[in-house]
Amino acid sequence: MVDRISIAIIGAGPTGLGAAWHLEQLNVEDWCLLEAADKAGGLASSFVDERGFTWDIGGHVQFSHYEYFDRAMDEFLGRDGWLEHERESWVWMRDRFVPYPFQNNIHRLPAEDLNRCLDGLVDITRQPAQRPANFRDWILANFGHGIADIFLLPYNYKVWAYPPEMMNAVWVGERVATTDLKRVLRNLVFGTDDLAWGPNNKFRFPKCGGTGAIWQACAERLPQDRIHYKSTVVAIDLEERVVTTDQGDEFRYETLISTIPLRELIRLSGQAQLLSIADRGLLHSASNIFGIGLRGAPPEHLRTKCWMYFPEGNCPFYRVTVFSNYSPENVPDISKYWSLMAEVSESPCKPVDQSRLLREVIDGLVATRLIERQEDIVSTWQYRAAYGYPTPGLERDAGLAQIVPFFEQYNVFPRGRFGLWKYEVSNQDHSFMQGVEVVERLVNGRQEITASNPGLANSVKHQWPFEAWEKDHNK
Ligand SMILES: Cc1cc2nc3c(=O)[nH]c(=O)nc-3n(C[C@H](O)[C@H](O)[C@H](O)COP(=O)(O)OP(=O)(O)OC[C@H]3O[C@@H](n4cnc5c(N)ncnc54)[C@H](O)[C@@H]3O)c2cc1C
Repeated sequence: MVDRISIAIIGAGPTGLGAAWHLEQLNVEDWCLLEAADKAGGLASSFVDERGFTWDIGGHVQFSHYEYFDRAMDEFLGRDGWLEHERESWVWMRDRFVPYPFQNNIHRLPAEDLNRCLDGLVDITRQPAQRPANFRDWILANFGHGIADIFLLPYNYKVWAYPPEMMNAVWVGERVATTDLKRVLRNLVFGTDDLAWGPNNKFRFPKCGGTGAIWQACAERLPQDRIHYKSTVVAIDLEERVVTTDQGDEFRYETLISTIPLRELIRLSGQAQLLSIADRGLLHSASNIFGIGLRGAPPEHLRTKCWMYFPEGNCPFYRVTVFSNYSPENVPDISKYWSLMAEVSESPCKPVDQSRLLREVIDGLVATRLIERQEDIVSTWQYRAAYGYPTPGLERDAGLAQIVPFFEQYNVFPRGRFGLWKYEVSNQDHSFMQGVEVVERLVNGRQEITASNPGLANSVKHQWPFEAWEKDHNK
């Protein structure tokens, strides 16, 4: 048993690393970080396959709501460690590409579909505004039956692996663009594409090593003697404040920051009375990721695309990224190879047959004309993240309101994508900042924003997040 340390962190994904990073910024030295894997990164890790292709766990794009996060990114990889791209995304349906956001570009649809979409849009202008009971109601109220039936309902089922009526509408915020009917009509009359990309829609991607390179670089800048890899936490004693690892090591702590899935925290700390609340409130889906390395170069229609959405039943995936467009270093030799990465969701409501999935993905890539010749495939890579998406279920917030305070009374702070289970604040920037902010709370007594007020966290670009909070509270 080591001496009692002040802060123990479980998990070296972006959240745990954000906490450790900020502790170092505040000159707090009395912390340790326990990680089950042999490297840092968590779901934001990257892998190199046997043929030399680099893969992320699904196409990771850097969004940022925080200048603190931007500065950290520059520090980790250096300002010239990045490539900048325009966010060019498309929807593939009815045998054609429609630019995203879909609702602004319905003029690209066959006449019959276009008519259904317009009917629905006109209908919703006549309906009184109502508070939606679930995500399905929200879609119907904001887009009408046409766009809902043709695109949004089937697409969202494919992404989330749960019917939208099982999800709440609280998380939607900035995640789903709503409709501006005048704009839709103008695009229709003039036949113009209304693209989400352009000068203000750029994103950065690491030059080398995929997304995981960011978090490896972060971990390398931390004191190595405080990070314990290959240390899976197997038990947490809330009363005694001790965590035990599969190596038999015990760590006594004053405060614990847990970034492991909240369900696992409940299980490892033996709080069986919370399990039924978790079963009702904490839904999630698994993510099956397929990397397909190809000989040659992307066909002309994929040359500048970043990612594409697939609402139809002719392929199992909901999204495909042209991963070699993110960095030439993602393939062994860009003059000879290119790559695609496909994502397939899975849940008890939408099971998949693992033994057939790769075959179905490849058939789907052919059916959607992303691949012309299967003979061009030189490498396939597969990864299943058992915890992929934290589903915003109908009873999520009621469950979290019971579970999170329960742990906090024991000085255990669950944070992060699955630590806190809030999809709307579960990207890399949010996760890293949840770690930063919880440390700021513990050390300096500041209020957290991202964990407690996702709407505010997502509303502006924060110089230093706590300023926004203070302004909001002093109104
Ligand atoms: C398919 C997919 C696509 C995504 N796309 C994007 C994107 O485009 N942009 C973006 O910003 N974000 C994206 N994300 C989200 C991003 O990956 C997460 O924001 C981030 O990884 C969450 O960080 P975290 O630290 O909270 O959790 P995690 O990354 O899950 O880290 C938790 C860590 O805890 C460790 N752990 C678990 N159990 C134990 C235990 N018992 N003992 C010790 N260690 C343990 C794990 O090994 C892991 O390293 C995507 C995620 C997925 C799945």
